[in-house]
Amino acid sequence: MKHCDILIIGAGISGAVLAERYANLGKKVLIVEKRDHIAGNCYDFMDANNILVSKYGAHLFHTNFEEVWEYVNRFSNWYDWEHKVIARVGDKTVPIPVNITTVNTLFGTSISNKAEMAEWLEANRVAFEKPSNGEEAVLNRVGVELYEKMFKHYTKKQWDKYPAELDASVLERIPVRQDYDDRYFSDKYQALPKGGYTQLFENMLSHENIEVCLDTDFFDVRDTIQGYEKLFYTGPVDRYFEFKHSLVEKLEYRSINFVTEMHDVEFYQENSVVNYPGTEVDFTRIIEYKHFGNQISDRTTVVKEFTVDEGEPYYPVPNPRNQEIYSKYREEAEKLTDVHFVGRLANYKYFNMDQAFKNALELFESLEPTMTEIPTTLKTAV
Ligand code: UDP
Repeated sequence: MKHCDILIIGAGISGAVLAERYANLGKKVLIVEKRDHIAGNCYDFMDANNILVSKYGAHLFHTNFEEVWEYVNRFSNWYDWEHKVIARVGDKTVPIPVNITTVNTLFGTSISNKAEMAEWLEANRVAFEKPSNGEEAVLNRVGVELYEKMFKHYTKKQWDKYPAELDASVLERIPVRQDYDDRYFSDKYQALPKGGYTQLFENMLSHENIEVCLDTDFFDVRDTIQGYEKLFYTGPVDRYFEFKHSLVEKLEYRSINFVTEMHDVEFYQENSVVNYPGTEVDFTRIIEYKHFGNQISDRTTVVKEFTVDEGEPYYPVPNPRNQEIYSKYREEAEKLTDVHFVGRLANYKYFNMDQAFKNALELFESLEPTMTEIPTTLKTAV
């Protein structure tokens, strides 16, 4: 039998934030984690080429939330990193998000300023007052040709759905630029943790009040844990309720098959991430990890990402059908007192790392309103 005040299922962002906050409040926290490591999908490690790689895909931190930026800086030093992505479109290589260079390269135009780019977009876009799905969202911004070349098939590979079958918000994650800005994100803070994400999580969880049980499935051990005041569950919401509302139609998730290749060359590609939005290959993108933080190695490691149905759930699939199924689980979840569903899988929401930090911090503040000023043990990162 194990005893704790606060029981947390999952050692990803949401679980680690709540563990850290409650531990500093003097509560005994137990984290039960199914995997053999902490840090959730942010988990990274040094590989055989001595390159820091992420097990579950590249994680680029970016935020406009001051409170989140302040919070993550308590547990790691960070270096500035403005992420850029390029896409191979036929025999051309272009920046994504779409900017002036993208259009000039693909269509042989000679746009050179914002006004000309705005004019090109206006002439090509198919206007929708309120785009109701991903296809309308892209057409509304960039028109048919760019939709076909850069979004339609990438999305089909990523989601096994065409953009028309997904919420507009999925495709609206990617902006369109009227200038030469080739950064993937526009946020005020764009950075990576020195030493990696796993070390950041180790710093968050290194507290005498926190115990982490790895390799442990909560549903196998739930009867052996006692005395807790609150349970925070960060796993898939349907699993908690034994899939009771999924008997006819399943709540969908997408998983990724990460295929790692090691090459005896200094560099495999010219950029950290190269997207393949066409049908000529089955993977969506190739990540070359040594670019992040300009790591030095004679060899290189690349990972091809094939998105698949089966496997660990990484992405909820935002569309009206899934939202309807999820709403049944949410109703059940809301009925439970002292069980809190938090994070991407438990809330069935496709959100970024900073939003995950923010949601967990806000949940803590709402539950412990007088305790928000509590200090962390580790003020300065190691
Ligand atoms: N997308 C696309 N072409 C690209 C990049 C993205 O069509 O070259 C679409 C795709 O539907 C994707 C969505 O935009 O799922 C959001 O992309 P993002 O890079 O934010 O996805 P993530 O990094 O979370 O996988």
